[in-house]
Amino acid sequence: MLQIVKHQWSNWSGFVTAQPRSMVRPDNQDDLSAIIRTAPGPIRMVGTGHSFTRLVQSEGTIVSLDNFQGLIAHDPQKLQATVGAGTKIGPMTKLLNDIGQALPNMGDIDTQAFGGALATSTHGSGATLGAYPTLLEAIQITDGRGAVREFNRTTNPDAINAVGASLGAFGAVTQVTIRNVASYRLRRRRWAEPVAGVLDRFHSIMTAQRSVEFFYIPFSGQAIMLTSEITDAPVTARPQDTDNEAVKTLRTLRNYLKRMPWLRKSLIGSAIGKLPPEDYVEAWLKVYASERNVKFNEMEYHLPIEEGPRALREIIALLETRFPEVYFPIEVRVVAPDEIWLSPFYKRPSCSIAIHHGAPEDPLPFFAAAEPIFRKYGGRPHWGKMHNLTAKELSAVYPRWNDAMAVRREMDPDNRFVSPYMARLFGVEQ
Ligand SMILES: Cc1cc2nc3c(=O)[nH]c(=O)nc-3n(C[C@H](O)[C@H](O)[C@H](O)COP(=O)(O)OP(=O)(O)OC[C@H]3O[C@@H](n4cnc5c(N)ncnc54)[C@H](O)[C@@H]3O)c2cc1C
Repeated sequence: MLQIVKHQWSNWSGFVTAQPRSMVRPDNQDDLSAIIRTAPGPIRMVGTGHSFTRLVQSEGTIVSLDNFQGLIAHDPQKLQATVGAGTKIGPMTKLLNDIGQALPNMGDIDTQAFGGALATSTHGSGATLGAYPTLLEAIQITDGRGAVREFNRTTNPDAINAVGASLGAFGAVTQVTIRNVASYRLRRRRWAEPVAGVLDRFHSIMTAQRSVEFFYIPFSGQAIMLTSEITDAPVTARPQDTDNEAVKTLRTLRNYLKRMPWLRKSLIGSAIGKLPPEDYVEAWLKVYASERNVKFNEMEYHLPIEEGPRALREIIALLETRFPEVYFPIEVRVVAPDEIWLSPFYKRPSCSIAIHHGAPEDPLPFFAAAEPIFRKYGGRPHWGKMHNLTAKELSAVYPRWNDAMAVRREMDPDNRFVSPYMARLFGVEQ
């Protein structure tokens, strides 16, 4: 077991830091159970630190599940696979593809640990496509007293729904069985169009195809549309990924033209007009994810789908009248409803609106001004992205909140996984 004492930890964006008394990477189940029982608390699990909130932060022990990786078993008939929760999504997609299986959908990146992505209900876009926890068939989790618990959707759906989006509060997830689909190819298309028209026809556009999303480019009036459809057409080469270069260009324009919004708008508008449309066919695992090299911080709220356009119009107006420093696009997606108690998509077809702020600049004034708009429309925050809600507000927007908290108490009676941040989030007295 690897143990680092007095480690300095930071999340992907650098906004959240921690100095835990120890950071450990257990080799096996016995080590993990012993750590949970005896290591200095609070105990917080870490995947790859891609969350923007303080979920992983701990002055006690941070536990990495890096040694719980790989494909453990699979069922070709049911198209199910069991993987270690520490498996990173990129390598996992290759393991699945090699056995003819595929994830039905993915988010923007594939660098997270699957256990981390499950814990925060990480999602992609698609009106009929759920977030990662909807794939769960079975889960193995080490509870707050170091005991191994196994839950199965067939025999105990409530348990899966209770711990599916766990925020690392119920225990350390060591392995999961997920329900996949047969490997497929995707036709990916990208083009620009005025955002006003997209918002006018929002519901029909966002639900017309299997997967639709768009990025609104601040100060441009333009949306970059992205669709992914399953196809039997032959593979064509994926064009070079220019997202990082595009964001750097937007930053440069911001730097020079912050006080000249009309010129900024006209230059960005004409640059977007010249963007060549993208249209290619590739294997599923080579389409969804891109590299994100330019660091940012992010707030994302999930709203009832019908509120999406109204909320987005207000967010755009806020950004363009009061926050000229913002250059990162706003990402807009739709997500299918699910049954997971702490999933922000619980029983609700959702529109997700994500706002970004370049790091290391201060994101808080923009996010604080945007949050009341998201909340006014009934938004639930992405667990891994910045927000200021605590148990009082969260319990009001999660119908099964009390049930989930009761399961948490049963699984972690000594509050081993409760850090100050988690105490605030869940309303646990310390
Ligand atoms: C560049 C970038 C792009 C992103 N794109 C998307 C996107 O497209 N869609 C989306 O929904 N989100 C997206 N996110 C957010 C990201 O997917 C989530 O924050 C995710 O939880 C990060 O996974 P991680 O492995 O880094 O987990 P961490 O941030 O390390 O941990 C997240 C939570 O999971 C818990 N955890 C981790 N492993 C375990 C385990 N084995 N057992 C129990 N608990 C565990 C931790 O305790 C913590 O509570 C993005 C983030 C970044 C930085």
